[in-house]
Amino acid sequence: MGIIVQKFGGTSVGSVERILHVAQRVIQEKNAGHDVVVVVSAMGKSTDQLVDLANQISSKPSKREMDMLLTTGEQVTISLLSMALAEKGYEATSFTGWQAGVETEASHGNARILNIQTENVKTELSKGKIVVVAGFQGVSEDGQITTLGRGGSDTTAVALAAALKAEKCDIYTDVTGVYTTDPRCVKSARKLESISYDEMLELANLGAGVLHPRAVEFAKNYQVALEVRSSMENERGTLIEEESSMEQNLVVRGIAFEDQVTRVSVLGLPNELTTLSTIFTTLATNGVNVDIIIQNTTSDLKTSISFSVKTNALEDTISILEQHKSILQFDKIESESQLAKVSIVGSGMVSNPGVAAEMFDVLANEGIQVKMVSTSEIKVSTVVDQVHMVDAVNALHDAFELSKEVASV
Ligand code: ADP
Ligand code: ASP
Ligand code: MG
Repeated sequence: MGIIVQKFGGTSVGSVERILHVAQRVIQEKNAGHDVVVVVSAMGKSTDQLVDLANQISSKPSKREMDMLLTTGEQVTISLLSMALAEKGYEATSFTGWQAGVETEASHGNARILNIQTENVKTELSKGKIVVVAGFQGVSEDGQITTLGRGGSDTTAVALAAALKAEKCDIYTDVTGVYTTDPRCVKSARKLESISYDEMLELANLGAGVLHPRAVEFAKNYQVALEVRSSMENERGTLIEEESSMEQNLVVRGIAFEDQVTRVSVLGLPNELTTLSTIFTTLATNGVNVDIIIQNTTSDLKTSISFSVKTNALEDTISILEQHKSILQFDKIESESQLAKVSIVGSGMVSNPGVAAEMFDVLANEGIQVKMVSTSEIKVSTVVDQVHMVDAVNALHDAFELSKEVASV
């Protein structure tokens, strides 16, 4: 039998009791004859607590020191889980990200994994040991400790599964699988038996926090067999695979949403060929991540551009635009916060032109104003007032009948 990678998230390792329970699940796979690599997150909300500690000391802590601080969270869990396994009579070795050979870009806070040197892990596995790896962390070429972005332990697990050519990667969490939407917000959300990599990637990128987007990217690129399942219940979870075999022909597969969206409008820009490229190059080179973009030309001479950013990037966005005012030559900047993005996702949309219209119709009937729109072959995103976010998701979930069981084909 081959290697299995199991990943347990924060809630699943949130107490000593839960860590002992996780140890039992790891042992089950070991006893079934697999080589087992376990990736764990920090216990419960401990990463948030570490962020909070830093904020009590500095309003803008150094990114390097933040990574140094946050990586301690996962290290608590790897050692405790290894001790738990030892208590139950199973030899385990814990590894930090760098000991496990997780090499990343030289950037702090949101580094990408570039490569995994698997020698240490393989050596321990060959001795019959269980290997317990700290998620969410790595090391850059110049020896700096890095983190992979919030929720990044999923990515550690899938990247390890790819590098080790594991048989499968199980993501154990506090829900029983991937649902049609976040079951915390929509009571009738339904667990999916399977979903395609592409659909899952869209959902994850559009705010469905159940999987880190880069984990899905790795799974797709390296064809890792991925399952999201519960660490508490013993039922089957959701398979993420190349083409979802079940529930084909479904126009909308799921709904994702995120709050803390802000619309920035740059008014009175010169209506020139290079205006768009200048403004977005300026923002990109200064590290501002822009999402939906709308251009509104008001006369032959003037144009306006609106775009959405995460609300925590607003201050930087405005200051960068102001710094470049002499080149950009705009009249003024306006912004609107307290917005949210609500998106419907499904690969069946490609061949169904009326889906966006239906979405707008549903929102209009609820009295919800759509402030920005963006579409791709498999998604439609709308920006609405944050206060309407959950109502919008519920209305769309009902209208597209996502809670209904769909016959497999
Ligand atoms: P972990 O700590 O195990 O990584 P997360 O909190 O990161 O867990 O992810 C699990 C959570 O994702 C669930 O509790 C759920 O509220 C949320 N979630 C958002 N969208 C979905 C979805 N479509 N299906 C399932 N869970 C979702
Ligand atoms: N502990 C990190 C976080 O809370 C990484 C993770 O849980 O995946 O974001
Ligand atoms: Mg997570």
